Order: sequence, then structure tokens, then C-alpha cells
Amino acid sequence: MTTHPNACTCCADMLPPGFDRRGFLRLAGLGAAGLALAPRRARAEPPPYKALLLSCVDPRTQAPVADWMNQPAAASHRGSLQGQYSQFTIAGAAVGVIAPAFPKAWSETFWENFSASVQLHRIENLIVVDHANCGALRLAYGEDVYKNPKLELEAHRADVAALQRELSIRHPDAGFQAWFLGRDGAGRFTAWQNLIAGPVIG
Ligand SMILES: [Zn+2]
Repeated sequence: MTTHPNACTCCADMLPPGFDRRGFLRLAGLGAAGLALAPRRARAEPPPYKALLLSCVDPRTQAPVADWMNQPAAASHRGSLQGQYSQFTIAGAAVGVIAPAFPKAWSETFWENFSASVQLHRIENLIVVDHANCGALRLAYGEDVYKNPKLELEAHRADVAALQRELSIRHPDAGFQAWFLGRDGAGRFTAWQNLIAGPVIG
């Protein structure tokens, strides 16, 4: 099939020919009626996926986060989520979406992508992973917060709570869980702490 210039190639097999952003928004607004008018899209409906993962761009955290997602994790998911989640990676994770220090466009882009993943992949949960020693937190709230573990954790708690509030307005049916990935004595990112408990993903 041909791919519209505005369509991402990763999702192209899920989209009808001629799909574009405006078409997507029309479908989103029409709901069931929109699906009835787009039988090719209905036939290509993928199985529901489990979650969207919001995480930070920090290179040190990429492998630990992927490893955690790809095996059972107490209080989060009962089995591996490999191949079952989409991912949005931005400096600071929840901090990048919430902190006023960053451009409003960061937040808007995240929420538009979350809505797209709900529509395209029928995801049911948002998993947020913030982490210790985050450079984006330093940019957003300053050196004093960044270097004080108590203030650092409080800032992450506040931002994941703000994110949850916004999610409850935008997507009231979505599950939500938030995590803080801390470091062990050797500086490795191995210490997982639940900040906001949500439905455990089966
Ligand atoms: Zn970070």
C-alpha cells in the first residue's frame, strides 16, 4: 500500500490508504460511526495492546527500563510486555510533560501521541517511569532540587500526580501507574519504587 506522507511507517499497515491526520481526527470524533464509514480500517483492527510507556531519554535508563518491561514486575505487570506496549520517550518523562520550564509543545505532543496510540493500538494503560539523577529535573527545578534526594523525589511525585490528574480528564477509562527508578550503591538503575499504584496489567 502507499503511505501518506503524514502517516508514520510503523503504523502504516493499520491505516487505510489516504489516511491523514485530519482523517484520523475525524474518525476519532465520529467514534463508532466513523468506524462504520471505514470498513478497511475496521478489518485491520489490531488486538488490544497493554500500555503506553512514558520514559526519559537518558541513555543510562534505556536498558534497565526495557528489561523491566520485558519480564513480570510486581505491582505493575504479571507477564512480559514485550511487543505489547508502545513507547513515548522525552526528556524527564512526567517532568518533561508537566514542568512549566519546558515548551508547551512537549505536553501537547505527548497527549496527541497518547490519543493516537489509544486509537491505533487500543492501549488501556499509561505507565510512567521517572528516574533518579535526571538532567531534565535539574533543568526544570534547579540544582537544589536535583541534588537533594528528598526534594528530588517530591518533585517527581508532584509531576506524576499532575500527569494522573490530566489523564483522568482526557482519558478517564485509562489505567495509570507511576514509577521511580533509583540507583543502587554501585550507581546502577535497579531500585524500582512505585509512586502511584494502578491496576496490575495482566
Ligand atoms: Zn531523565
